[in-house]
Amino acid sequence: MKIKQNPIVVLGAGLGGLTVASELAENGRALTIVESNPCVGGLARSVGKNGFTFDLGGHRLYSNKKWVISKVEDILGHELRLVRRKSRILLAGKYWDYPPRPLSAIPSLGFREGMKILTSYVSSAARLNHASQNNASFEHWAVSRFGSRMYESFFRPYTEKACGLPCSEISAEWGMGRVGIRNLLEAARKAVLKRGNLPRTYASQFYYPEKGIGTIATKMAQRITQGNGRILLGCEVEEVRWDQEAIESVLINNGSSRVELAADQFISTIPITSLVSLMRPGITPAVLEAAANLKYRALVCILLIVNAESVTNDSWIYFPDKDIIFARVHEPKNWSEKLVEKGKTSLCVEILCDQDDGIWRATNELLTEKVISLLSRLQILNEDKVTFSFVERIPNAYPVFKLGHQNHLAKLLDYLSRFKNLHLLGRTGMFKYWSMDQVIEEGVLKAQDLMYGD
Ligand SMILES: Cc1cc2nc3c(=O)[nH]c(=O)nc-3n(C[C@H](O)[C@H](O)[C@H](O)COP(=O)(O)OP(=O)(O)OC[C@H]3O[C@@H](n4cnc5c(N)ncnc54)[C@H](O)[C@@H]3O)c2cc1C
Repeated sequence: MKIKQNPIVVLGAGLGGLTVASELAENGRALTIVESNPCVGGLARSVGKNGFTFDLGGHRLYSNKKWVISKVEDILGHELRLVRRKSRILLAGKYWDYPPRPLSAIPSLGFREGMKILTSYVSSAARLNHASQNNASFEHWAVSRFGSRMYESFFRPYTEKACGLPCSEISAEWGMGRVGIRNLLEAARKAVLKRGNLPRTYASQFYYPEKGIGTIATKMAQRITQGNGRILLGCEVEEVRWDQEAIESVLINNGSSRVELAADQFISTIPITSLVSLMRPGITPAVLEAAANLKYRALVCILLIVNAESVTNDSWIYFPDKDIIFARVHEPKNWSEKLVEKGKTSLCVEILCDQDDGIWRATNELLTEKVISLLSRLQILNEDKVTFSFVERIPNAYPVFKLGHQNHLAKLLDYLSRFKNLHLLGRTGMFKYWSMDQVIEEGVLKAQDLMYGD
């Protein structure tokens, strides 16, 4: 049965879908959001267990645009907490500031190592002029800007763990999004002298909602349903039906029945690769092949409740070492005391993997056991203090910027651009390395465009 209840259907209730929908619904536009998870928030949701709240990988809010922060405060109905950021990285058995503050690290590296870093930077900078036209891989990007010594010690190990690829196969775009500084000298100027607008990687404090990042999504959802919108949770979009140059409807499955929802406008925030594979009639093999070449990295979070006052002082600790199964750990209590029970603490341990690889398919018990015994070996945690644990698996967590991904993405965008009533949005929906503030900003702009554009 084909139903047309609302003129707008939004696919996905992450921050992208929720932002555009809340702007539209509050301005009287009738709409329906369809979300496959049983809750809103997508990557930026929080989960609660036994009185403890966890983000799925700590989410800090940071923006150079004041209106974005004010928008979030308006949604929450109160001011955000300002949290001091202190992060470290464990390299060769020693903890360092993270992100690397190259020149300030030199005294602790020692004179010899400091000179090696500077010499390798100077020789790489000299090559940069000749090689800038051919600046395609992350390896090239990082070596030419920071020198081979810094690249090998700081950038390479974590990047390869994060992306699951050698740096020579990762696009330079990853560096521009993730590192956010142009070279060693700029890093020194920004991090040591603290002048100018800091790139987000180097921000020394961030905003955070006291009851977890997921409260932004739940408050947006309230606004949508109090406005002119409805949210269908636990409903998977199974087909996107089109004719000529328009999307006509989506087929959704709530686990017990299927319904076809028709609308005039469709906003998609689901992975762009899923979107093209759900098109009915099916699309050309060349576009499907391009989609098959775009990959998202998945995440498994091991969440631990710990019977101790405190475990770390950090916002995050990064673990690039290949022998350590996890990439990052954070202690929610250091972000807000309201995320834990009094006198106790918790940890969120992030393991990056590919969907359906050995880690993704490993049992919860095996992963939890490995993580706890490693944390104990690293003297971060006494394993007897863990009183409860659970595991969350998150698909499509990071777009993987493999060399050449821009060409594959361009093919998908070109194909989808024929549908005049289809709008793509969000990090997952656009295959962008966007943080929450960028997704929120794009969501607001998209709503304005739909309401007031030509
Ligand atoms: C580990 C981690 C840490 C991060 N830390 C930060 C941080 O510190 N600061 C920051 O600003 N940003 C951070 N981010 C980025 C931030 O999470 C994202 O920018 C933002 O949440 C993306 O929102 P979105 O709506 O674009 O995508 P998503 O949240 O992915 O939303 C897409 C939604 O579509 C749904 N969906 C998918 N397929 C279907 C289907 N077939 N039918 C129906 N629904 C479907 C999904 O369930 C999901 O809810 C982090 C991300 C990760 C993974």
